[in-house]
Amino acid sequence: MAKRDYYEVLGLGRNAGEAEIKKAYRKLARQYHPDVNPGDKTAEEKFKEINEAYEVLSDPEKRQRYDQFGHAGVDPNGFGGGGFGGFGGFGDGSDFGGFGDIFDMFFGGGTSARTRGPQQGADLRYDLSLSFEEAAFGVEKEIEIPRLEKCSTCQGSGAKPGTSPSTCSRCQGTGQVRMSQRTPLGHFQSIKTCPDCGGEGTIITSPCPDCRGRGRVRRNRKLHIKIPAGVDTGSRIRLSGEGEPGTKGGPPGDLYVFIEVRPHEIFERRGVDLYMEFPVTFVQATLGAEVLVPTLEGQATLKIPEGTQTHTILRIKGQGIPHLRGGGRGDQHIRIVVVTPTKLTEEQKRLLRQFDESTDKSNYHPKGRGREKGLLERLWDSLKGMGE
Ligand SMILES: [Zn+2]
Ligand SMILES: [Zn+2]
Repeated sequence: MAKRDYYEVLGLGRNAGEAEIKKAYRKLARQYHPDVNPGDKTAEEKFKEINEAYEVLSDPEKRQRYDQFGHAGVDPNGFGGGGFGGFGGFGDGSDFGGFGDIFDMFFGGGTSARTRGPQQGADLRYDLSLSFEEAAFGVEKEIEIPRLEKCSTCQGSGAKPGTSPSTCSRCQGTGQVRMSQRTPLGHFQSIKTCPDCGGEGTIITSPCPDCRGRGRVRRNRKLHIKIPAGVDTGSRIRLSGEGEPGTKGGPPGDLYVFIEVRPHEIFERRGVDLYMEFPVTFVQATLGAEVLVPTLEGQATLKIPEGTQTHTILRIKGQGIPHLRGGGRGDQHIRIVVVTPTKLTEEQKRLLRQFDESTDKSNYHPKGRGREKGLLERLWDSLKGMGE
């Protein structure tokens, strides 16, 4: 069957303006809409034809192609490529095919309704503060998390024990209702989620007293968790399935434990390595010494080599933090700080002056600085010059 001329379909002259086209379309669409002509095949065909004509004539580019080449200019099978796909399916109010955009323009879209299926429960977050040592060596903790749980009184149904939810009378248990909608094209019906039962299809007439019909209650739940050695601030531990329960048989969410490590009064942590400062006297630094330094697990002997300069970093291997994955531990780094003595007696001062006079300034040459004179040496040289 040959297609009718689009202008003819809308009852318009070829010079019709935009407003005229729109007005004609609205009038005809209102008249032939399938929802106001239920079961009328002729009206449905006419409605499709009207929409097809409108889609072309309301689009300046398509209209120009149509004016020039006729139907071939806008036919998806011709060279124009207009694209009118999949008409039909008006009965369920959800499939408006190729002119869905036009429909949405007047109806605001979102006409299809869906009943809610199983949904996964929400993930939960728990912030856990650990001491420095707990994070380093791992710990077992019992935490208490408030979360929604299936109500044990009603087994999650939301209905008072001894009663059961009744079928929603508004939607007859389908969860969907046909709604009459006011649009620029008149009153039409569309499918919506049932407002009485929220799409559930059932209504709880006598709600469970413990959960007030929700089927879930908020409870504090105790959980035992194992914190592995080596976690740090920012580490996350996922406890699969320990989040909130799902609805309608959906799986539960997960629980994420976010770790925060409290600072240590001696150690600073950088990855798996520990850093600390350790004070020594200038005599210890000069002559060398064996000292006891604190470690995470107690103390260790540290050898201060003879002639150690202040801010030298010494290392104790394997006394750092265990690697979170795999074996081994980081190191402990000790920054030596030479402390200048104060409150000396006159006798001590005299001895120091005597010591100073007996000292060749070459004794102060820093170790390992090469043959070239360092800044310190040049400083000493200038001081010596001033003293003379
Ligand atoms: Zn309950
Ligand atoms: Zn309902």
